[in-house]
Amino acid sequence: MEVEKREETVTVIAQAGTHLDEVVSLSVAEGWAGLECLSGIPGSVGATPVQNVGAYGQEVAECILWVEVFHREHLTFQRLSCEACGFAYRSSIFRGQRQWIITRVAFRLLPQGSPTLRYPELAELFRGSARPSLAEVRQAVLSLRQKKGMVLTPGLPESRTVGSFFKNPVLSFEAFERLKTRLWEQGVLLFPQEPPNFAVPAGIKVPAAWLVEQAGFPKGTRRGPVGVSPLHALSLVHWGGGTAEALVAFASEIQRAVKQAFGITLEPEPVFVGFSQDLPLERATCL
Ligand SMILES: Cc1cc2nc3c(=O)[nH]c(=O)nc-3n(C[C@H](O)[C@H](O)[C@H](O)COP(=O)(O)OP(=O)(O)OC[C@H]3O[C@@H](n4cnc5c(N)ncnc54)[C@H](O)[C@@H]3O)c2cc1C
Repeated sequence: MEVEKREETVTVIAQAGTHLDEVVSLSVAEGWAGLECLSGIPGSVGATPVQNVGAYGQEVAECILWVEVFHREHLTFQRLSCEACGFAYRSSIFRGQRQWIITRVAFRLLPQGSPTLRYPELAELFRGSARPSLAEVRQAVLSLRQKKGMVLTPGLPESRTVGSFFKNPVLSFEAFERLKTRLWEQGVLLFPQEPPNFAVPAGIKVPAAWLVEQAGFPKGTRRGPVGVSPLHALSLVHWGGGTAEALVAFASEIQRAVKQAFGITLEPEPVFVGFSQDLPLERATCL
């Protein structure tokens, strides 16, 4: 990793193969804000721009300065600015493409910056604290993730997962109104209760985990060797002895049930490698 210090910012340039959490823990230890909420996310730095990795109120797009790519046909290196990467919620120009290999990523961080406390569950933990340190926020994120089986832990079967299987749907105001009406009509919620939701620039985000549970797949639901994690409704777990096909069939069952119940098609978050295009999942990205 290379570090460039300027008066008001620090740029950390990491090679694609570096573990993301190494960059996060270094930043937190040095007091550079910007990545602390991404603590404990498994994977390499080079993969982070692909789906604009994010968690607990932060996304890498917020602090990526540039991404260096190698073009497989032109055999040239290029530096793409953050704007050129087309970042959106769990998406970028890199998702589902083969022409670019990401080789380095530059993160611009804030020395002595405050931690990001946007995510309600995380903010709640620090209610009343004057100004928690980056290290305290990292620790809190790690412990929240641990409770949900979202930290890869050897021997913990609940962490045998790709992480969140579906993206949280972002609805227009009208679509959110339709969802509420449907939930009241079905008696899932009593008028004027609302499903959990967060306002985002593109609309209203509804947690996919909540929809999955309401559609009849509570935590711990099993279909033989696969199932919903007992710790997190958005995490599909392979308990062993089954196939990837079994997991995809189960995911497809969930997707259909949510669509039938609420008229929302959940978009799978992982990219599917080695599957044919007739994968039984709508809106899946295949390589
Ligand atoms: C327990 C668990 C928890 C998770 N929690 C989160 C979370 O909170 N938030 C979140 O956003 N994600 C989460 N994920 C998903 C995962 O951590 C990210 O997708 C991560 O970026 C994957 O990194 P990887 O190196 O394993 O990439 P891979 O899974 O190997 O690849 C992911 C995609 O990126 C492409 N890719 C990888 N490296 C490069 C490169 N150098 N150049 C071009 N393309 C590349 C691959 O082709 C593939 O399409 C979680 C996963 C698990 C297992």
